[in-house]
Amino acid sequence: MKKDITIIGAGLVGSLLSIYLSRKEYNVKVFERRADMRKERINAGRSINLALSDRGIKSLEEVGIMDEIRKICIAMHGRRIHNADGSTAFQAYGKAGQFINSVSREELNKKLLDFAEHQGVEIYFDHKCEFIDWQTNTITFEIQDAETRMLNSELIFGADGAYSAARLQHHLQHDRFQYSQYYIDFGYKELTIAAHKDGSFQMEKNALHIWPRGNYMLIALPNIDGSFTCTLFFPFDGDPSFASLNTKKKVKAFFEKTFSDVVPMLPTLEDDFFTNPTSSLVTVKCYPWIREDKFALIGDAAHAIVPFFGQGMNCGFEDCSVLNSLMEKHKDWSTILAEYQWLRKPDGDAIAELALNNFIEMRDKVADPKFLLQKKIESRLHEKYPDKWIPAYSQVTFSPQIRYLEALERGQKQETIMKQVMQIENIDQLWDNDELHQDIISRLKM
Ligand SMILES: Cc1cc2nc3c(=O)[nH]c(=O)nc-3n(C[C@H](O)[C@H](O)[C@H](O)COP(=O)(O)OP(=O)(O)OC[C@H]3O[C@@H](n4cnc5c(N)ncnc54)[C@H](O)[C@@H]3O)c2cc1C
Repeated sequence: MKKDITIIGAGLVGSLLSIYLSRKEYNVKVFERRADMRKERINAGRSINLALSDRGIKSLEEVGIMDEIRKICIAMHGRRIHNADGSTAFQAYGKAGQFINSVSREELNKKLLDFAEHQGVEIYFDHKCEFIDWQTNTITFEIQDAETRMLNSELIFGADGAYSAARLQHHLQHDRFQYSQYYIDFGYKELTIAAHKDGSFQMEKNALHIWPRGNYMLIALPNIDGSFTCTLFFPFDGDPSFASLNTKKKVKAFFEKTFSDVVPMLPTLEDDFFTNPTSSLVTVKCYPWIREDKFALIGDAAHAIVPFFGQGMNCGFEDCSVLNSLMEKHKDWSTILAEYQWLRKPDGDAIAELALNNFIEMRDKVADPKFLLQKKIESRLHEKYPDKWIPAYSQVTFSPQIRYLEALERGQKQETIMKQVMQIENIDQLWDNDELHQDIISRLKM
C-alpha cells in the first residue's frame, strides 16, 4: 500500500484531489508552478469566473466543503438572451429549483487550498515541474531563485492543466502515446461590467446573460461584488474578428452597433479591449492517461475541452470523485488507475464533443424561434415523462448519475427524433398535443 502521493499542479482539480487523498490517510504533497494566490495577486488562470453545476457540487459535497463554497456562489436559473433588436427573453435551464452557479475561480481555488492545508496536505509554491524520470519516479522541479529540487515519489498525479508538463514527460517517454490538440478558430477576451456605486448589479443578477449574434457571442456571469465578467467569443480572423477590430474607433463602433445595450455599462471598453489578452480555446485528447501504478493524468491535463458547456472543471471534479469511489472498491493502485482510465477516458471524449457542439447552440440557436419551440416541447416531455425524456442540457448539467457518454448518446437519439418532429406541419399549433407526446416517447424505443 502506497503512503506518499505527489500531485503536480494546485489548480482547481489538483487541490480538490489532494483533499480526497488526504481524507484517505495518504501523505500528500502538491507542487505548484505559481506563487501562493492567497498571498500574492496573480492571474488565477483561464477565466475569471466559472459555472459550477451538479457534477462539481457532488464532489465538493463528498469532501464536506460545499456549504462553505455555496457562500461564494451566485445562482443562475437560466439564460437571459439579449437579442440584436434590443428585446430580451429568459430561458430557464431546467425545472423550477434547478440552477447553475457562478463562482470566482480565484476564490474557489483559494478555499480549496485552505481546505487542503487544513487537512494536512503540504503545498509547495513556485515549484515548476520540469522533468520526470520514469525509471526512478523522480520529479525535477525548477524553483524560483533557488537550486532545482529532485523528489522521489511512488505515485504521481499530473493535475497541471491543459498545457501539462507532466503529460509532456509521459508523452516523450511512452511508446505509442496518442495525442491530439485542436484549436477552434475562435478566441476569447474578458471585459468587466462594474457594479453600481452602491454595490448593486447593473443587470439581472441570477442569470447567465448571452448576446447571441450568429457566428459569435458575448456572455456575462455575475460576481459577488456586484460586477459581471463578460466574455467575447469571437473569430480570430475575417470580418468582424479580433484581427479586424484593430483600432479603438472600430471597437467602439462595432460594440455600439452589435451590443448596444452593453456599451453604457462598459465605460472603459476601448482601453480594456486592447489591454486584456485574447486567449485561444483548445481541446486536448490523449491516451493512455496512466502508467502502471505510478502515474495518472487528471482534470485538464487529461482532457482539456472548450468552455461552452461550462463543464471543464466539473468534469475534473468528477474525475476525483470517480477515483475516490475506486479507492473504496480496490486496494491496489494498478487496478484503481486502470479502472479510472477505463471509465473516464470515454466520458472525457464525450464531454469534449458535447462542448464543441454547444458553441453553435449558444451563439446562434438560442435566438431562433424554431429552436425555442423545440426546447419548449422537450421541456413539456420532461415534465410528463421525467425518467424517459431528459433534455440534453439537463443530462449533462443536472444529472450526475448519467455518465457524459450516455448523455451524448441519449442526446443524439433525442435530437434525431426532434429533427423529425420539427418537420411536422403546424408543429407550432400541435406542440402540446398528448398523442404527439406519446408518439415521440414511443420513438425512443426504436
Ligand atoms: C474561458 C473559459 C471558461 C471556462 N468556464 C468554465 C465553466 O464555466 N465551468 C467549468 O466547469 N469549467 C470551465 N472552464 C474550464 C476550467 O477552467 C478547467 O477545466 C479547469 O480550470 C481545470 O482545472 P485543472 O486544475 O485541471 O487545471 P488548471 O485550472 O489549469 O490548473 C493547473 C495548475 O497547474 C499549474 N501548473 C501548470 N504547469 C505546471 C508545472 N509545470 N509545474 C507545476 N505546476 C504547474 C498551474 O499553474 C495551475 O495552477 C473554462 C475554461 C475557460 C478557458
